[in-house]
Amino acid sequence: MGSIQPPQRILVTGANGFIGAHCVANLLSDGFQVVGTVRNEDKAQKVAKQHSFNPALSLSIVPDVTDPHAFDIAIQGCNGVLHLASPFGYTYTDFEKELLIPSINGTRSICNAASKTPSVQRVVITSSFAAVFDASAGPSPDRVYTEKDWSPLTYDMGKNGTATPVAYRASKVLAEKTAWDFLEQEKPHWDLVTLCPGMVFGPLFPGTIDKLKDLNTSNGLVWGLFDADNIPETKAPLWTSITALARAHTLALTTKKAGNERFLVLSGEFDNQELADIIHASTSIPPAIKVRVPVGEKGGRHKEKSFTADSSKVAEVLDLDLKRRDKSLEETVVALVQQLLALEQETL
Ligand code: NDP
Repeated sequence: MGSIQPPQRILVTGANGFIGAHCVANLLSDGFQVVGTVRNEDKAQKVAKQHSFNPALSLSIVPDVTDPHAFDIAIQGCNGVLHLASPFGYTYTDFEKELLIPSINGTRSICNAASKTPSVQRVVITSSFAAVFDASAGPSPDRVYTEKDWSPLTYDMGKNGTATPVAYRASKVLAEKTAWDFLEQEKPHWDLVTLCPGMVFGPLFPGTIDKLKDLNTSNGLVWGLFDADNIPETKAPLWTSITALARAHTLALTTKKAGNERFLVLSGEFDNQELADIIHASTSIPPAIKVRVPVGEKGGRHKEKSFTADSSKVAEVLDLDLKRRDKSLEETVVALVQQLLALEQETL
């Protein structure tokens, strides 16, 4: 495949989401034309406004990603695809209907649409570290996850399990496998890149949400410390900066040698106690606000180091130095908290 460059046209599914909005902004600022998909007209208007009615951005309404022809119109004339539209939350009750089917069938729909579109050169799927992590291994202090690792979760485990995080992780691994299987079986004219970020933190692109109740799941973890009784256990201790992740999506399209590669996109480790410590140590958050966050055991970290991961491939292949160009966890969390506190004030 040749490399994709501006002003070529990129389809971004889930353009109204937390990560999708940043990806659209990153592509537009690089000079790409962007077609964003959303589920209804209200969301289309909101996204257009969010990007100041940039003429390089058009919106297409795709009400149901599980329709096998869902993306057939939106993808026409596109050279690359970022597929982000997929459910991420921990409040679902019907795991098959709400998580597995949209995630897996949505991935199949985008692969099918790309195969019917000669102009498409590359499809980038936003997978997750959830598709890599093996919870059944238990605490594994010496384990270093790499791109070769896969979650062992099956469809039945996701459908019939009792915990939503397990069903979410199953939805991500099975969706990513759907894309790789499609590539192997159908041998399409496009190539594939999958990105596996950790828990993504950082300020929302302005205009993404109007109310805190619509806050995305990963940033909700930080906001969930406010007015909490205590600091929750850290379940997924790897984080990714939204700024770096949006850039990684653009580079996944433009870097020729990234074709048919999988990437762990991780900024580092974190601990919920660390998030609380950052808030309490910040000089830009007023003391009257800080008291809403439990102090916990200052400086305490999860006792048994669960695992680490190696995301050096991002630097080697995408030429993105996550440590050097990223904002730190401190800067990321404080900027996010300030934005969320302002939103809370506005909507009181
Ligand atoms: P958001 O909830 O902010 O965005 C999700 C996007 O997917 C929205 O556009 C949403 O549309 C769409 N979507 C959700 N459910 C469906 C569905 N059933 N059918 C069609 N579209 C749907 O989440 P993020 O931006 O955080 O997530 C974007 C992608 O990144 C997802 O694939 C997620 O799994 C992945 N990811 C996220 C991480 C994180 O920490 N945030 C970590 C790793 C991966 P609508 O607004 O209409 O619901």
